[in-house]
Amino acid sequence: MYAEKNAVGIDLGTTYSCVGFWKNNRIEIIPNEQGNRTTPSYVSFTDTEILVGEVAKHQVATNPYNTVFDVHRLIGRNFYDPDFQTDMKHWPFRIFEKNGRLYVRVRYKGEKKDFSPEEITSMILLKMKDIAEAFLGESVKNVVITVPNYFNSLQRQAIVDASTIAGLNALRIINSPSAAAIAYELDRKPTGLRNVLVFDLGGGTCNVSLFDIKHEGILDVIAVAGNNHLGGEDFDNRIVNHFVQEFKNKFNKDLTSNVRALCRLREQCERAKRILSASKQAFIEIDSLFEDIDFHTSLTRDRFEKMNQDLFMSITELIDKVLQDSRMKKSDVNEIVLVGGSTRIPKIQRMISEFFNGKELNKSINSDEAAAYGASTLASILSGNTSKKLEGLLLVEANSLSLGIETLDVYEGNSTRSIENNLLGEFELSGILPAPKGVPQIKITFDINADGILNVSAFDKTTGRKNKITITSGFSKEEIERLVAETEKYRMDKERVIQKVQARNVLESYTYDLRNVIQCIENMKNELENAVQDSITWLDENQESEKDEYEFKLNLLKKIANPIVMKLGVNGSP
Ligand code: AMP
Repeated sequence: MYAEKNAVGIDLGTTYSCVGFWKNNRIEIIPNEQGNRTTPSYVSFTDTEILVGEVAKHQVATNPYNTVFDVHRLIGRNFYDPDFQTDMKHWPFRIFEKNGRLYVRVRYKGEKKDFSPEEITSMILLKMKDIAEAFLGESVKNVVITVPNYFNSLQRQAIVDASTIAGLNALRIINSPSAAAIAYELDRKPTGLRNVLVFDLGGGTCNVSLFDIKHEGILDVIAVAGNNHLGGEDFDNRIVNHFVQEFKNKFNKDLTSNVRALCRLREQCERAKRILSASKQAFIEIDSLFEDIDFHTSLTRDRFEKMNQDLFMSITELIDKVLQDSRMKKSDVNEIVLVGGSTRIPKIQRMISEFFNGKELNKSINSDEAAAYGASTLASILSGNTSKKLEGLLLVEANSLSLGIETLDVYEGNSTRSIENNLLGEFELSGILPAPKGVPQIKITFDINADGILNVSAFDKTTGRKNKITITSGFSKEEIERLVAETEKYRMDKERVIQKVQARNVLESYTYDLRNVIQCIENMKNELENAVQDSITWLDENQESEKDEYEFKLNLLKKIANPIVMKLGVNGSP
């Protein structure tokens, strides 16, 4: 099989990731080794190896301190940000800060080891690369990766670094609703001009983008909004808190002190939430949840909706913001496309439809795979695919955050106070001539590339001096090289573990096969002995029988003996 120019698209989600490629004029989503088309964005460290995906997610309850998830909520964040401190309370794994950077501390191969969010992300990307390579039978290099709308320049750069560490070349970093819009546009029958709102609600983020499709295939992003703290996991947290309280009331015990119990409860809460999208009630039954207490309870859809009411309401605020930013009325929106696993929640669908005065929502594209579809399509276009189907497909992105300068520090964010925004970098423009306040004229240029990563230049009109900065995540070239080498080491470690397990399996299965052979010989020997004993007894008891009778008995004995003798490989017959 062959992915054109080996380019794949990866939808890198907070909770799940998905990989696809363009082949024979269409996108194929690649299943993982378990046959699933999305793979949990989880990494687990054990005494022997690093696990990623399904196997890692299964470790959450048994190996909670060393199983890392939600890395989207770690990447590019400030440890001292109060929101981040709140987030940390939900994670069983340990996070700390060193030289202004975040790290996760885990036990790997019996030793403490620190990993940056970029490294954890690179492990997820590497897994998606492996899934693609196993399916395609050849190596994959180029990739388009999706990120949430609200990722700032630092976070986007961190994803570029993570892909380099994973041995990938990031052709483009793209907002996930934009990727979904590409998938929508590819499947759409030409119906003229459209204003399309893509509503993307996944595990950790809510992204809303409004597209103006003036000409067939030209997707002009006119407004974007996003909330990095609004998604399925936040709904799960509400359910968890509800049941922790119920447990307290019923048994007078606080189960939050037991990380394993909390993880088991969370798993069941997420399951219940999914069930409530189809049923009015879901049951939770966890045996020996805490101090040998069985916890059997239930949750109604109504209760679930009430406990998340404020979160659900903030969804419509985001849509409102996008409409305001684009100066559009609700009635100007021709199509509302739903993507992301959490858009399956009936209440959310109802609220969005009601917000648009009862408008029918478009659920035609696969909510789990749409972003990977779009990313794979873009990967193929960027690798030179000239298919007629893709002709004229063009995406014009918008920046989601405001940019600003204070003295010569560069900030990104939507707050009017610089301190509440992200400091992207600072640069020096020396030799500005002394002049009264407001007199020096400095021309600042913000240049955002297609990945959403910023370059800022400043030009002093009086002196003609200039300077320029490119936003980087802070990893030097040498650090990236070291991390690439370390990743290669982990990969070799993993390969060694796989080979060891394979060799053990071969020896084990040969040993057990031999044991079966011995058992078989034993059974045959018993059968033969019985037949021989029978024959001797008959001969003793029948000294004077007729020829026919002896021949008859001989045939009976041969019928039993011959198959056994042949199986044992002994030549000749008795
Ligand atoms: P995504 O990031 O798009 O893969 O979405 C993952 C999120 O969707 C997780 O929080 C899931 O719990 C949630 N999800 C998936 N299926 C359903 C469903 N049927 N009902 C409610 N939430 C769901």
